[in-house]
Order: sequence, then structure tokens, then C-alpha cells
Amino acid sequence: MTNKHSSLSYLDPGRPEPWASFIEQIDRVAPHLGSLSHWIETLKHPKRILVVDVPIVRDDGTIAHYEGYRVQHNLSRGPGKGGVRFHPAVTLNEVMALSGWMTIKNAALGLPFGGAKGGVRIDPRLFSANELERITRRYTSEIGIVIGPDKDIPAPDVGTDQQTMAWMMDTYSMNVGHTASGVVTGKPIALGGSLGRQEATGRGVYIVAREAGIRAGIPISGARVVVQGFGNVGGIAARIFREHGAKVIALQDAEGAIVNPAGIDIPAALAHAAAHGSLSGFFGAEPIGADDFWQLECEYFVPAALEGQVTPQRAQAMRTRIVVEGANGPTTPAADDILRERDILAIPDVLANAGGVTVSYFEWVQDFSSFFWSEEEINIRLESIMTKAFEAVWRTALERQVSIRTAAFIIACQRILAAREQRGLYP
Ligand code: NAD
Repeated sequence: MTNKHSSLSYLDPGRPEPWASFIEQIDRVAPHLGSLSHWIETLKHPKRILVVDVPIVRDDGTIAHYEGYRVQHNLSRGPGKGGVRFHPAVTLNEVMALSGWMTIKNAALGLPFGGAKGGVRIDPRLFSANELERITRRYTSEIGIVIGPDKDIPAPDVGTDQQTMAWMMDTYSMNVGHTASGVVTGKPIALGGSLGRQEATGRGVYIVAREAGIRAGIPISGARVVVQGFGNVGGIAARIFREHGAKVIALQDAEGAIVNPAGIDIPAALAHAAAHGSLSGFFGAEPIGADDFWQLECEYFVPAALEGQVTPQRAQAMRTRIVVEGANGPTTPAADDILRERDILAIPDVLANAGGVTVSYFEWVQDFSSFFWSEEEINIRLESIMTKAFEAVWRTALERQVSIRTAAFIIACQRILAAREQRGLYP
């Protein structure tokens, strides 16, 4: 009944890309699923893939075309949920993998969503605000046939923010003829956004790091932390680590890396990055080369930039005790094995960066009920959901003698495939 041939004709099989990493992770969990493994192929076949042309008139009057995607990987447990990425390296392969990780993440946390992801292959830094608005609105209209508050709910990711979500919400609302605030999350507060959403992913990274540290005997207070990526996830995580007594000794963004063994003043670094667009030129630390950055001795290393950053070579060189994956898919499966061999604890993305989608879930619920919670309520519920999910994953890892990643995948896949089995195949 299952299809043994999971290679998909629209992908180039020769390239080691993120989708291949996702498939390998699925293959690793399959032996742990008992009779549910009968349904495992469903996770190797995204349910729906939309590739769209996004033409706009540029400010100089010329017409330019960009490629956009929305992939709904699995909708067995609810509507699709996942961000939209604006980045020059966005490909269909990457968006497929990111949508698959969303399916796993939402299920691992017990959120009533399937997994989806979108993207447009552009470098947002090269466009004016007006051009970005036109790209966002055209992209939203093109994917409008598959998104909606009860169908698929986008959110911000790399290169997109609250303003992008405001344009998406407005465009979708104009097209359907009424205000549909629940079509996206990560919106400005004035449009039905949730308190605490903007910092939720970074806060969740801190919560799981703290929980891992308690169990591994490595307290956050006094720990040395290295963070790759200084945007929404890495910047906020760095700030919250520091607020809890950690010393953030190094940071890296797309322009380069900096180090200060005495600890970087994160609020000052955030102010510098906000004013100049990057960390370069920041006075409170010294520049450091990429190779040296990956070899810094620390207790916590937080990759919070892009996928595929922790390569086997870097995993071999890293001198950290715990890796907390703020980014999606930062560690390749081969690098994951090396970290495990070297006794470096890896807290996987599907758990570590789930704070964002958890508060996105709160935002969606608040929009539906038009009843808004206080920031304190949001953070208490976030803390409760994330610590419970962490505890369940940790226990499964101990019971089954598997990595934290495989344990998270086991819990998630059991939920997804049980839903698949109970719903049955249509027709
Ligand atoms: P962002 O655009 O706000 O920040 C990205 C950061 O990474 C920037 O500082 C950028 O300079 C840096 N960067 C880019 N390329 C780099 C490179 N090659 N080397 C070093 N640094 C580089 O994006 P974000 O929202 O913080 O997302 C970061 C990661 O977290 C992504 O993998 C994203 O999918 C994941 N994530 C984001 C959220 C969220 O709520 N924003 C939720 C879950 C997961």
C-alpha cells in the first residue's frame, strides 16, 4: 500500500539539500513508530506545492519577475502554519524542508496545526519599502487561493516582519471583502497581533536551554553563550540569556563575527544593529574570523541564522556543551551524529524554536475570539507549553535511548500518523 519510491521528480536528486536532511530525519524515526510506520511515506510527500510568479513594477519603471512558493506539507492535524521567508537563496527544496519541519514542530508541541512554509527568492535589502509592499501584496494575492484563517496561516521568518504581515493581512482582506485578521500571525498589535509574539521564539530558545541546562548540570547563570544570527531569534535570545546571568561572548551575522570574552553588551549591540543594519563597526567587541568563531569555547552555542550551518567539519571543531537550535535545520544529519559522538547535547529546532509558533497559535486563538490576553498570561502559557513539551521529549529520549531530536520526531510522528490513520485515506 505504501509507495517505496519517495524521490520526487521536481527535485534535483544530486544535490544535498535541506529536503534530503528532512527525509533522512524521517527515515531515522521510522523504526521507532511501530505499526504507524505503515503511514511514514505520507511525510515524504508534501500535500500541496504552489509555485507563483511575482511580477512588480520597480521604482525605476521597469518590470521584474520573482519566484515565490507556498508549500503545505501535511494538514492531517489542522490548518497549515508556517512562516514566509524573503531571502536570495530561497528555493523550492528549502521551502519544502521548512514546511516539513513545521509539521513536526506543531505536532511535537501539540498545537492543532499542520505544517506549511512560504518564500520569495529576493534579497529584501535591495528593494525600497514601496517595492517590498508590491512584492508582498502580489505574492499574497497569488497564494490567496490556498491560505486563509482556517486553511493556512503564514507568519514572519527570515527577511519578513510585522510590516510584511500587515500588508499580507490587508491584501487578503481586500481580496475576500472583509477584515480577516486571523489569516496571518506576527502582525502589529494594532491589527490583532499578540503581545509577546515578537520575542516569543527567542524566549522559547532560552526556556529550552534552561531546561536542558538543569538536567545536564550546566546553569545558565555564568555560562558562556555564542550566538550565530542576530535577528529576531538570535538577537532576542542573546538578550534574554544575558538577562538571566549568562555571558554572551560572541555573535555572528551575515556581515561577520565579533567576540568579547568579558561578555558583549547585548542592548548596545541590538541598538547598533538596528541603526546600521548589521553588527559591523560595533565597538564593544573585536572582529573574529569565521573558523575561530566556530571553535570558541562556550557552554551554549545557539545557531539562529539559516539551515545547514553546523556541518560535519564544524561539529568536529565546536567546543560547546550544548547546541540550542534557534534556526530551522541548522545541523545536517551527519553533523548531528558527530555532536552525539562527542557528547555535545543538541536541542533540536522543532523544540528549541517552537516558542514563535506557540505564541502564533495564541494570536490566532485571540483573533478568532476577539479577546486579547495580557503579556503576562501569554508568557505563563508559553512557559507551560514549552516546559511540558521539553519534559515529554526528554523522557522519551531516556526511555528509548535515542537523541533528543529523534525523541521529538517520535512524539510528533506518532501524533501526525495516528491522525492520518484515524482519518483514513480519501477516497
Ligand atoms: P532574521 O532575518 O530576523 O535574522 C537572521 C539573522 O541571521 C540576521 O542577523 C542575519 O544577518 C543572519 N545571517 C544570515 N545569513 C547568515 C550567515 N550566512 N551567517 C551568519 N549569519 C547570517 O531571521 P529570524 O526570524 O531571526 O530567523 C532566523 C532563523 O530562525 C531561521 O532559520 C528561521 O527559520 C528560524 N525561526 C524563526 C522564527 C521567528 O519567529 N522569526 C521562528 C522559528 C524559527
